[in-house]
Amino acid sequence: MSSKRMLFKKQLYQIQTVATNVYVLSFKRDFTFRAGQVVAIDLVPDGEPRLYSIASGEQDLYVQILFDEKKEGKLTPFLSKLKAGDYIYVSEPFGSFKTDNHSAYWIASGTGIAPFVSMARSGLGVDKILVHGGRLDENFYFREELESFFPDCYFRCCSQQEDTAYFKGRLTEWLINKNDLQLDAHFYLCGSAEMVVQVRDILISKGISFQQIISETYF
Ligand SMILES: Cc1cc2nc3c(=O)[nH]c(=O)nc-3n(C[C@H](O)[C@H](O)[C@H](O)COP(=O)(O)OP(=O)(O)OC[C@H]3O[C@@H](n4cnc5c(N)ncnc54)[C@H](O)[C@@H]3O)c2cc1C
Repeated sequence: MSSKRMLFKKQLYQIQTVATNVYVLSFKRDFTFRAGQVVAIDLVPDGEPRLYSIASGEQDLYVQILFDEKKEGKLTPFLSKLKAGDYIYVSEPFGSFKTDNHSAYWIASGTGIAPFVSMARSGLGVDKILVHGGRLDENFYFREELESFFPDCYFRCCSQQEDTAYFKGRLTEWLINKNDLQLDAHFYLCGSAEMVVQVRDILISKGISFQQIISETYF
């Protein structure tokens, strides 16, 4: 998806591999943002930038972006080859995906965990239940930090690893089997369109109203 916003040159502080073909890049924070917001990123100032959720906390010194490399993608195969000291172009933060004090489920697939990491790091994880779907155990990014934020309410659903340490199956199966959902909670969804649509349907079939569901779709 493209987004015509002014982009500003940033020097990469670090780029780390966190799983097969999945990376966290970081650059020094010189703007304020609200947890849940995104930035547009590109390698040139006037191209077709892609959108990425900010994963860092609102007060952190560095902005972190979690991304996976899409084969044949226009940006991510090049982004993943960058080194510390290289330059990228980044917009101001924007977007309306935000949490509040109401009890809520935070439901993510893949890199869709990023805005919830930002929210937890910003102190907004009180009274929240985190559900993350990934293909392999290595895809539960930031897991150690999230375990400390959510010692009793962090559920991982692993769809493709036979010997997973977590729930074996897709997060949609976990939700279908869950018979004690808090029906007055809010439900925040973030990830692929497929996940968002399927989870929304499951929640509605369990009696959750459309107004209780807030989603951020990655496409
Ligand atoms: C609000 C929002 C937040 C997002 N946040 C994140 C995030 O935090 N982390 C993250 O990893 N991603 C995030 N995304 C997704 C991100 O913006 C990019 O779409 C993603 O990184 C792929 O970019 P790319 O340029 O590498 O791939 P693209 O060039 O966009 O291609 C994506 C895929 O489509 C295929 N494709 C491209 N063109 C065609 C075609 N013509 N026909 C068939 N297939 C084609 C490619 O092979 C590739 O696999 C977010 C998206 C949105 C909308």
